[in-house]
Order: sequence, then structure tokens, then C-alpha cells
Amino acid sequence: MAKRKLNRQQRSRIDAKQASKLSKQGNEALSGASDAGDDANFGPELNGTVTSHYRAAADVEPEGETSIVRCHLRANLPALVTGDRVTWRQGQGELAGVGIIEAVHPRTSELCRPDSYGKMKLVAANITRAVIVIAPEPEPFTNLIDRYLVAAEHLGLDVTLVLNKAELGNESTDTLLTNYQALGYSAFKVSSHQGTGMDTLTEHLATGCSIFVGQSGVGKSSIIQALLPDEAIKVGELSHAAKKGRHTTTHAKLYHFPTGGDCIDSPGIREFGLWHLDADDILNGFAEIRPFIGSCKFRNCNHISDKGCAIVQAAEAGDIRTERYQSYCNIVQSLDAVTMQTDKSLKS
Ligand code: GDP
Ligand code: ZN
Repeated sequence: MAKRKLNRQQRSRIDAKQASKLSKQGNEALSGASDAGDDANFGPELNGTVTSHYRAAADVEPEGETSIVRCHLRANLPALVTGDRVTWRQGQGELAGVGIIEAVHPRTSELCRPDSYGKMKLVAANITRAVIVIAPEPEPFTNLIDRYLVAAEHLGLDVTLVLNKAELGNESTDTLLTNYQALGYSAFKVSSHQGTGMDTLTEHLATGCSIFVGQSGVGKSSIIQALLPDEAIKVGELSHAAKKGRHTTTHAKLYHFPTGGDCIDSPGIREFGLWHLDADDILNGFAEIRPFIGSCKFRNCNHISDKGCAIVQAAEAGDIRTERYQSYCNIVQSLDAVTMQTDKSLKS
């Protein structure tokens, strides 16, 4: 079915081809080629994955290969991001070594974040798993973990929790991890410095496409570096660049783990947040609250102070952990604060 849709897209693109022009910023040879007629200049359609994207070009990895081909984009294509699956064609003759992207395949997930103007921007596609990293130091906040969880649940991602710096030994972080495991999330204890637990984590990540999120300083770069020994990941530096606002929106890169599985990483991706979620989305992001949705006395129950609230009752009965219920309230109230502020600025 998806294939038929893609073919339709391709056909309409072919119809529009006479008018289409390669990106202005494409190299000169490619621009010349669009005038000369594409079929002579480009080979048959192939599948590939975008491993890195730029303003007017993208690096594409042909299906089943590990080489990278720098590709330009048809003018009528939507914005492409790292992780996109595409139909592309290899340049022939004097265009050997470069390619052109013809179509983008439907995405299974889209990761967005606001740009510096507050406008939502797509940063990566087809991610399947969010790895939330915590550590005894810096001290984890349940509320922050829950924010990552809600955002991941909203995108339909699998969630894995990783407690790094395990060699520091800390009872309260161990309990925290166990509590999340009890909610059904996969949980691992590792030390990226000492290597403990890393083999099991590697095995777990061997399918799908992961992103790593979590507080700065918990060891995300160190873990990614340990999983990608042949890449140069900057430990302790990327987060610094992110704070200064550099490299935060582009240059997400797709990596392959040597024994299987992919990872997309950039400082911007690590700042994954609750962009554009409403109160219902937040409620649905709490796995153990979900079964109580719809059981409150009033249909428009605020689940905080309204009478006959099934969720409050479940929290009081211990069916929902107090910390998690509090976390839900905090997140919803912080959304209200943002909405109120926006309303105020609109009125003034
Ligand atoms: P990020 O900000 O989450 O990417 O964290 P980094 O990977 O930059 O690590 C932050 C600090 O934690 C660095 O000083 C690392 O050397 C240190 N670190 C990373 N992994 C471990 C670990 O397993 N044990 C200990 N004790 N320190 C670690
Ligand atoms: Zn309620």
C-alpha cells in the first residue's frame, strides 16, 4: 500500500519534472544536468537512508551498503531530515559520485523541536527508541525523567532507561530504576567507564533506531562513544556547545552500531522535550494512569482537585505512585503556566 502511494508521488513528480529545477545551491554540474534531461545523467531508482542533512543536500546511504553518497534534492521535495528513507538515483558519467533524491518514503516517527524563533522544526525521522540516561551524579529528578517519558510515549517510541556510572553505587537511583522497570520499561545499569553492563545494552540496542536523552553530565556522550568505538564523539563538550546555542538544530547524524542497530545523535536531539503537548497528551504519557482515564465522576475532571476523580483515588489507594502522580500534576501545571503567559502576551 505504501509502495503504491510512493509510486503516485513519483508519477506526479515526473509530471512536474519539466518545471523542476535542482536546488540553487547544488553544484554546477548537477544544475546543468537538469536542463540536459535526467534520464541520461542518472541511473535507476534506488532506496537509501539519509544519514546527515544540510540546507540543500543530504548524505544518503544506499540500502545494504555502508558508503555515503552526497545527494541533491528535487526542488519540490519537502524538507528532509536524518533518518528519512528515500528513493534516489546515482549520477552517471561526469556526475558519478553524486546523486539526486527523488522521493521521501512515509515516516514512522517524526522528532521535532522549536528553532530559535519558536517555530517547530523537524530534526529526525524514523526513530524507534528513546534511551533515557540517568546517573547518581548529577542527581536525577523524577519529574525530568517523566517529561522525557511523556514525550517519548507521545511519539510512540519504545523507552529504555539506562542508569550510568553504576560503579558509584547509589541506593536511591537503584530504587528509581527499579520503579520504572516495574512500570514495564526496559532498564539497564551500566558503567561506560568500567564497561560493566555495556554488552547487555549493546544487545538490547541491536535493532531499531535509538536516540539518547537525559540531563547534561549523566554520560550520554560517553555511552555513545563506547557503543561507537570508531567514531569521534566529544565527551563533555557537546553539551557545552548546546548550551551556547551552537549546532543545536542541524547536523543530526545517523550511526550504525557495529553489532546492529542505529542511533541518531546531535546536541539538539538530546534536548528532546514536551513541545506542543496538551493536558490529554500528558495524561496518556503516564502508562499506569492510562487505565483510569474515563472513570472519573465528571467528564471534564481536572484530575487534581475535582470530586470523584478516579486518578486521585488510584493515587490515594497506592495504585499510582505518589511521585508519579505529583509529576503528572507538575507537568500539567507547567503547561498551564505557559498557556497563561502566552494569553497574557497576546492580550498586551
Ligand atoms: P553527557 O553530558 O550526558 O553527554 O555526559 P558526558 O558523556 O559528557 O559525561 C559527563 C561526565 O561524566 C564526564 O566527566 C565523564 O567522564 C563522566 N562519566 C561518563 N561515564 C561515566 C561512568 O561510567 N562513571 C563515572 N564515574 N563517570 C562517568
Ligand atoms: Zn479525574
